[in-house]
Amino acid sequence: MKSIQFLFLFSLLISYGCNEKATQVKEVKFVKQNQYSSKKIIDLSHEFSKETIYWVTAKEFKLDTVFKGKTDKGFYYSANNITTAEHGGTHIDAPIHFAEGGQSVDEIPLKKLIGHGIKIDVSEKALNNPDYLISIEDFTNWEAKENIKIPDGSIVLLETGYSKYYPDKIKYLGTGLRGPDAVKLLHFPGLSPEASEWLVKNRNINAIGLDTPSIDYGQSEYFKSHVILLSKNIPAFENLTNLDKLPSNNFEVIALPMKIKGGSGGPLRIVALLNN
Ligand SMILES: [Zn+2]
Repeated sequence: MKSIQFLFLFSLLISYGCNEKATQVKEVKFVKQNQYSSKKIIDLSHEFSKETIYWVTAKEFKLDTVFKGKTDKGFYYSANNITTAEHGGTHIDAPIHFAEGGQSVDEIPLKKLIGHGIKIDVSEKALNNPDYLISIEDFTNWEAKENIKIPDGSIVLLETGYSKYYPDKIKYLGTGLRGPDAVKLLHFPGLSPEASEWLVKNRNINAIGLDTPSIDYGQSEYFKSHVILLSKNIPAFENLTNLDKLPSNNFEVIALPMKIKGGSGGPLRIVALLNN
């Protein structure tokens, strides 16, 4: 009899435990739905393919098919080998790219790569001038219009409009040629060194990105904006797309690069989460 009583108590405990667990699971699901199903996800990355645009001196993307089709055991199988430079297509520049002793791509804290996003649209000016330099005024104009300072910890995205030319190399880079001699033929907009300096001195941003091949403009010789930003551990995202689909404020960015140990940069999958 005692053992029957014990069994009853035991099963009661089990069912109580299970119920409690079930409630917990329900709650977790509910929170998840609230966080993500209510958001619109915008892909800010270009795909990697034969068309992917690389710096004119960098090795381009290559995909070799290892196998594709039905195996002799009857199941389908597909696998490829890929080759790519770190800096091509949608990618990240890690601090060590232009700052000795700076963080490599695997060392960038994830907190810098996930967070509040703002967008500054300079496309009207940049599409009319392939050598356009994004200025301090572009930032202060945004702040005046939004009636706020660029919030601390922001991921700042700069829309030049150049993504619409991608992957047309002549329109996007200013030249279809490759190799060291092609560097001086590059024409596309970028961030002025003065504006980079202003940002690091006066605002406290986590990362920056734009829809051109480089944070410095095409005609840059000394890549000063790279040096200024990366020396302060502010990573840069390059060759972004779909920035025209973003509002100017109040969205989230998730930017997760390939975790290359010691890497100076790497392929980047970056998305924005918008409130519906
Ligand atoms: Zn780069």
